[in-house]
Amino acid sequence: MLTVALVGRPNVGKSTLFNRLVGRRIAIVDDTPGVTRDRRMGEARLGNLRFNVVDTAGLEEIEDPSDLNARMQAQTRTAIDDADLVLFMIDGRAGITPSDEHFADLLRRVETPVVVVVNKCEGRAGDMGLAEAWGLGLGEPMPLSAAHGDHTSDLYDVLSAHG
Ligand code: GDP
Ligand code: MG
Repeated sequence: MLTVALVGRPNVGKSTLFNRLVGRRIAIVDDTPGVTRDRRMGEARLGNLRFNVVDTAGLEEIEDPSDLNARMQAQTRTAIDDADLVLFMIDGRAGITPSDEHFADLLRRVETPVVVVVNKCEGRAGDMGLAEAWGLGLGEPMPLSAAHGDHTSDLYDVLSAHG
């Protein structure tokens, strides 16, 4: 079965998407960065598709803040290596941040296929972020609203293509 990793900086909506796909509130959604304790896997369904989805966090295990980048990278690396497809999530309302660039630098160098998902794109709210996301150098970004369900059919198409 296909394994999909949700990767990105805190607060972009990874756990919200995880919960939508798995259909249960397994992952904790919160405005406070770092509430997801560790990687979580669940069996996801989207239409007739079945796949494993992995929610990542990346910040919370850190005791020494100076170690932050190293720990984020290590946790993300493991999720990426175990996955068949990475959904690299960014916040379309916030636009591209230095932290997003950090993840993009890592993701441009991995073997696992990566799709940029611009979340929080309900209505036209994420249009600017969607345009900016081309600059990450990871191909055509797709819009999504994990919270409201907009563009779910685009996600279905992406997952079918990698299925
Ligand atoms: P994570 O840290 O990447 O796992 O992000 P969370 O899933 O915990 O979400 C962080 C915040 O963004 C929460 O307040 C969510 O309700 C909010 N959020 C998540 N997805 C969306 C979305 O599609 N649209 C909007 N407007 N907010 C969202
Ligand atoms: Mg989370």
